[in-house]
Amino acid sequence: MMTDRAMTDRTFERIETLFDIAAFANVNVLIAGCGSGGASVALQLVMSGIRNFTLIDNDILGPENVIRHVCGRRYIGQKKTDAVADVLHDRNPNASIAKIDADIMNYPGLAAEIVKADVVVLATDNEPTRYTINEMCIRHGVPFVVGRVFTRGIGGEVFAYRPPEGACLACLEAALQRTPFRQGIREIDLVSDEEREKVYGMEIAEIKDSPGLTVDITFITSFHTRFVLDAVARRLGERPKFLDPIDENYLIWGNRPVHPFNKHFHLQRTALSPQEQCAVCATRSTAHAV
Ligand SMILES: [Zn+2]
Repeated sequence: MMTDRAMTDRTFERIETLFDIAAFANVNVLIAGCGSGGASVALQLVMSGIRNFTLIDNDILGPENVIRHVCGRRYIGQKKTDAVADVLHDRNPNASIAKIDADIMNYPGLAAEIVKADVVVLATDNEPTRYTINEMCIRHGVPFVVGRVFTRGIGGEVFAYRPPEGACLACLEAALQRTPFRQGIREIDLVSDEEREKVYGMEIAEIKDSPGLTVDITFITSFHTRFVLDAVARRLGERPKFLDPIDENYLIWGNRPVHPFNKHFHLQRTALSPQEQCAVCATRSTAHAV
């Protein structure tokens, strides 16, 4: 028999016939970073029926954020965790949302939060936090999906760590060093300021602070969300029929024909295996050796 709440709650009426969201009831998602990427993935997840979230961020929403963030002007001056939690509750008042107002690198409870999660949405904007979470997820056998938007929003990438035997973020970087994509994307980050101005004719500040329009970012966050739902499906006892497995664990997307991409909507994907020389994975194989 349906409860009163089930009869009156029409939140998921339009998607539940093809999308059995009851399977997600006990799924816990850790959102590491509540910037434009992490917040957008969180919003898409709550609208996909995910109910239990933990948000980690220590930033405040500024007026310069709202043109790309899911939180608009009414949230300026608020903690991003509070603002994003409010936006998620607005879509599903029954969502359960824990908020951690902390710097990821200096938060002593990070490992405990990772252990509690079914999947980590890795959406921070710097390498130290990415590699810290990569190592913790390997240690504790917790999947993560990382998304990154390239400079000026020319494209982006999504990578899924699938324990216990999947390739890790360090494996990915080792493999990508040999590809034109990484060279093309890295060159703008690595060249000197003078070279940037000469080659690209742009102000340095403009390059550094222009990760693209929200429309460019949304392509990446949509792929990111799909990979997170795939990671969730892999954790469930029985994979939901509406979530076919994604075979590849890495996807690179070009928004427009800017080097290293040569056309609009340029998609490449790979099933990356662990790299033999990866020092991070080496610790895992010892830990999991039978
Ligand atoms: Zn590795």
